[in-house]
Amino acid sequence: MPCNHCGLCCLIELCEIGQYIHGGPKRRRCPSLRWVGNGYTSRCGILEDAKEEFKAEIAWIIAADEGCGIDAEVTDIKGKVSDFKMLPDRMKVLIATEYRMNPVEVTTRGVTHENHLDPGRLRNLSQRAGRKEGNQH
Ligand code: SF4
Ligand code: SF4
Repeated sequence: MPCNHCGLCCLIELCEIGQYIHGGPKRRRCPSLRWVGNGYTSRCGILEDAKEEFKAEIAWIIAADEGCGIDAEVTDIKGKVSDFKMLPDRMKVLIATEYRMNPVEVTTRGVTHENHLDPGRLRNLSQRAGRKEGNQH
């Protein structure tokens, strides 16, 4: 399923590059998560702010526009359990919006919205891209 930029994956946990840059717990809202347009469309601040020469590599790391890679289940009021990534776009945006207000409403098994890197490559890229302690976007 294509990514519609609902933002739920980055609301739930930090990807590999987000963890490296921000540190702290993995299971939390990523400090680099941004909302654009009508406020319901997410963007990655690390990718947006990167110098042009690093954008392609960062986009690869976070699997940008490679489809919805979240591994999450949602349960509706009738008890029906659905795979989040298979839901219609409007439903994804509704659930992500609800999660922003009340994070306990969605059950997740984890997020897999990143390509796997060897640690040396990640460290090298993050240093070249200009890692700052406590970087908040
Ligand atoms: S893709 Fe960007 S906003 Fe999302 S978790 Fe990774 S660093 Fe954070
Ligand atoms: S949860 Fe899926 S559709 Fe929503 S932003 Fe993440 S990858 Fe895209």
